[in-house]
Amino acid sequence: MNTFSIAIHGGAGTLVKGMMTSELEAQYKMVLKSAINAGYVVLENGGTSIDAVEKAVVILEDSHLFNAGKGAVFTADETHEMDASIMDGKTLNAGAVSLISGIKNPVSLSRDIMEKSEHVFLAGQGAMQFAKMNGYKIEEDSYFYDEFRHKQWLEIKDTDSFQLDHATKKDSKFGTVGAVACDKDGNIAAATSTGGMTNKKFGRVGDSPMIGAGNYANNKTCAISCTGSGEFFIRGVVAYDVACLMEHKEMSLEEASNEVINKRILEIGGDGGLIAVDAKGNIAMPFNTEGMYRASKSSNGEVDVSIYK
Ligand code: ASP
Repeated sequence: MNTFSIAIHGGAGTLVKGMMTSELEAQYKMVLKSAINAGYVVLENGGTSIDAVEKAVVILEDSHLFNAGKGAVFTADETHEMDASIMDGKTLNAGAVSLISGIKNPVSLSRDIMEKSEHVFLAGQGAMQFAKMNGYKIEEDSYFYDEFRHKQWLEIKDTDSFQLDHATKKDSKFGTVGAVACDKDGNIAAATSTGGMTNKKFGRVGDSPMIGAGNYANNKTCAISCTGSGEFFIRGVVAYDVACLMEHKEMSLEEASNEVINKRILEIGGDGGLIAVDAKGNIAMPFNTEGMYRASKSSNGEVDVSIYK
């Protein structure tokens, strides 16, 4: 039997010492543990990697601590616009959604786009129409409200600045969430979900819903979910770049992930991290920031739940 494994992240970013209380840290770790365990149980019971990554991301989306689903950051109009994507490394099927509001679990909508439509990427009003046709309930804005995110927004509203949730200097809250998994059959998958950046406008979309930039899976190489400064991750085609280094330069998962996060993306000014698995169940979780909320669990017995380096 193949080694099976799962890794998740809750965003990478700058930490300011003293802002993280031990109580808050415990809360983060508790949610990370429950998400990693839920995904792991799917794999343990012989479920698919795609089911495992969706399950884990739903739990992270349902927590107000992360910038995805409940607790998503505020746009310049004081609304929430969420992005998500999912990819199946066995079939290369993918689904992605952008600029949606009122959807409790954007990752599940991206999966429905993958499975129930002829398309890969739906955005805005059309995506909302597709969600309603498929029976999604539209939540009130109050469901997504988080006092901390609102404060972040109040500080920069009416200015031209955008704030990457993960780059905030004043606190330790990161945001975007993701999961990658390898199942017993050696099939891999990746999922990513985000509220994007605080005070964003003009229909700004980051890397998270873009297949190849913030999310990618191919059994031949790796499954990747990214977090960080989206504009740079798009230009660096980060997730696909890791896969390319493995395929064409025969790098290992660890080498390729490190090359992209600690060299290539840094060279163009990007900060952040990624989580990665390959079809043998190996895991890599590099980041070039001070911390990245992350967890991993593998059938070879390795378990890790960490925030800092
Ligand atoms: N990459 C996300 C974006 O640019 C943000 C994040 O990872 O925190 O939308």
